[in-house]
Amino acid sequence: MTLDIARIRKDFPVLEQQIYNKPLIYLDSAASSQKPLAVLKKEEQLYLEYYGNIHRGAHFMADKATLDFEGVRDQVQTFIKAANREEIIFTKGTTESINLVAFSFGEAFINVGDEIIVSEMEHHANIVPWQMMAARKGAKIRVIPFEDNGRLMVEKLDELINEKTKLIAVCHVANTLGTINPVKAIIEKAHAKGIKVLVDGAQAVNHVSVNVVDLDADFYVFSAHKMFGPNGVGVLYGKKELLEQMPPYQGGGEMISEVSFEGTTYNEIPYKFEAGTPNITGVIAFGEAILYLEDLTVEAVAEYEHQLLVYATEKLMEIPGMIIYGTQAEKSGVITFNVEGIHSFDLSTMLDKMGVAVRSGRLCADTVMQHYNVSGTIRISFAVYNTIEEIDLFIAALKKLVMMLS
Ligand code: PMP
Repeated sequence: MTLDIARIRKDFPVLEQQIYNKPLIYLDSAASSQKPLAVLKKEEQLYLEYYGNIHRGAHFMADKATLDFEGVRDQVQTFIKAANREEIIFTKGTTESINLVAFSFGEAFINVGDEIIVSEMEHHANIVPWQMMAARKGAKIRVIPFEDNGRLMVEKLDELINEKTKLIAVCHVANTLGTINPVKAIIEKAHAKGIKVLVDGAQAVNHVSVNVVDLDADFYVFSAHKMFGPNGVGVLYGKKELLEQMPPYQGGGEMISEVSFEGTTYNEIPYKFEAGTPNITGVIAFGEAILYLEDLTVEAVAEYEHQLLVYATEKLMEIPGMIIYGTQAEKSGVITFNVEGIHSFDLSTMLDKMGVAVRSGRLCADTVMQHYNVSGTIRISFAVYNTIEEIDLFIAALKKLVMMLS
């Protein structure tokens, strides 16, 4: 399918503005994507027409909001092809989803001396919750390294896995290197030894078509805000039989069956893990983001973003002193780089003044920075609304700055 990018851009009016009197070039969608009108309108419609607290069944508006909220659970189930709707838990983001699993899986299944494997290319959100859990439970963290070219050394799993290994937590797509990891092969290897796998899909869901049953992932987590949805909404997919064995993460309303001072009983999944009033508006508007993405199709989006990636990589390589971190063929639409002799912060600040929004610094991935022995980098990342013309403008701006600063 050929996408009509000019038409798509019309759905994102935020892109049609000047920043410091320069046309905005938004190259930071891996941090958070912009939102199409359909998502914004849904939020507005909910607040204007039928806002009410969900699952309380008290009145018309609460019932309608509940129906829509639960409808989005069905949409997410279909989107990632999960077998059961109750395997979809709404959280406030990838970070909360991972913290939930680290706590709850930790309580249920981790004992002193057990081991958890993470990779060297993880976002802090897929390292720190495991470290906290390991400290609490007396467990140990082991690390799958990556090669300088951004390839995860999956073969090292043979040395890392032992009878103490309980879980592997790995990203589907790395937020710095862009590497698309062979998660299906990792899961197969892990399951052969009875080890569970959590896949961090934060950078994958809108670039790679995800089928959690085919992957056989035990947990798959992601955030709505990176896929055209609102911030403050995330998903935890977990296999039913595991979620049922795991204790609640937070206590409060909704997650209980009955409360008394003699003892409280818990609700069924997914509600057992959804204590308190959730982000009702965010979840309902997220439904529009999923529709939007399904309409474009993840496959067509990925193909288009790949063209942007290949073009931008070629153009960047023309710049003297260019270092690109992560050069795998299986790569998603992010490019992390430095220019020799120029501080990433200086470049990103000056790019901003030229209307170009990029991410700079440690990218919530200190272990990747440590791997390359750098204190910071610049990252550009693409979404379906970016264009070749924008890349040309960005490259021209960058070339000018490199000449000035070197
Ligand atoms: N994992 C990865 C790979 C990410 O890119 C991000 C977002 N930067 C996160 C986890 C954390 O996501 P959130 O901030 O939405 O919780």
